[in-house]
Amino acid sequence: MRRLRFILILLVSLATARAGDWTLVKYGGRDHVTLQNVADFYGLGPIKRASLSLEMGQPNRSLRGALGSNELYINNLKFILSYPISEVNGHPIVSRMDLTKVIEPVMRPSRIKDAAAIDTIVLDPGHGGHDNGATSLWGNEKTYALDVAFRAKSILEQHGLKVLMTRTSDVFIPLEERVRFANQFQNALFVAIHFNSGGSNASGIETYTLAPRGVPSMAADGPMLSDLQPCAGNVRDAENMALATAMHASLICHSQLYDRGIKRARFVVIRDIKIPGVLIEGGFLSNPNDARKISSTPYRQNMAFCIAAAIDNYRRAVAPQSALVAGSGVIVRDDDKKSDTPVVVTPTAN
Ligand SMILES: [Zn+2]
Repeated sequence: MRRLRFILILLVSLATARAGDWTLVKYGGRDHVTLQNVADFYGLGPIKRASLSLEMGQPNRSLRGALGSNELYINNLKFILSYPISEVNGHPIVSRMDLTKVIEPVMRPSRIKDAAAIDTIVLDPGHGGHDNGATSLWGNEKTYALDVAFRAKSILEQHGLKVLMTRTSDVFIPLEERVRFANQFQNALFVAIHFNSGGSNASGIETYTLAPRGVPSMAADGPMLSDLQPCAGNVRDAENMALATAMHASLICHSQLYDRGIKRARFVVIRDIKIPGVLIEGGFLSNPNDARKISSTPYRQNMAFCIAAAIDNYRRAVAPQSALVAGSGVIVRDDDKKSDTPVVVTPTAN
């Protein structure tokens, strides 16, 4: 009995010590933490501040942002936060949601609980049949997406992975059908391949992953009641972010297109998927410069190479004792002692 009491006291004091690592700050009705708290936790040192801009860490392990901005560069890769970096009593703060759903899985992917060992990839070339997707003078999104998927399949198979495609010809497959197909597989990743369309000035690459429960989709006009509904894919929030990071880093490193960042949305295919999933937009067909590049075979072959490299990086990154260096697209061993710090970050929602 005495022994049990001792163990209980020990457990309670351990829990207190862990909770003490973070000081929550309420701002705008939402939990936040100071960026200095974040810097201390990840061993990034003091915040260098110049006017609105904030920077901490070393070139390969760093956070960079600005007060009032939703953009945060983690290891030199651009992430779009759900809430802007703000300031309370002279201290820059970031939302707890962005800490747990963006910063933590990117800084310490090897800490993601239950990340399955991957042996299967489901590639989802967007659109098809009567649905051309975006169009350009040179060709349609549906054709380019299928071409990239075939090229990626061949590389991934050479890497020993089993690869399935939601379509292998120019046919229309409803989104729900694609999800049903992908959800049959375990130990698998889902990659939807698309090209963008927008104003003629819009250009570059963006990567979408599922918005965590409660945060607005960046593809919607603003917050909606449905943001509060849990989606099937939310059980994979951390893996989704790690996969999006690996994918976006690879695409940005190896293409000359503008970095539009990693964003959150609730597109059907990434919303209802039960395996980690990501949707890539490999440039704007509405932009003549992007469209010309996309129409060239070397560009699409390179995109396929990037997808395969990203999947290799993801598999290594979620393995124990490794860490993803997002900006360089390279995986290094993380021998930083800080990585032994217990995980005290708890998700705010599933
Ligand atoms: Zn599309």
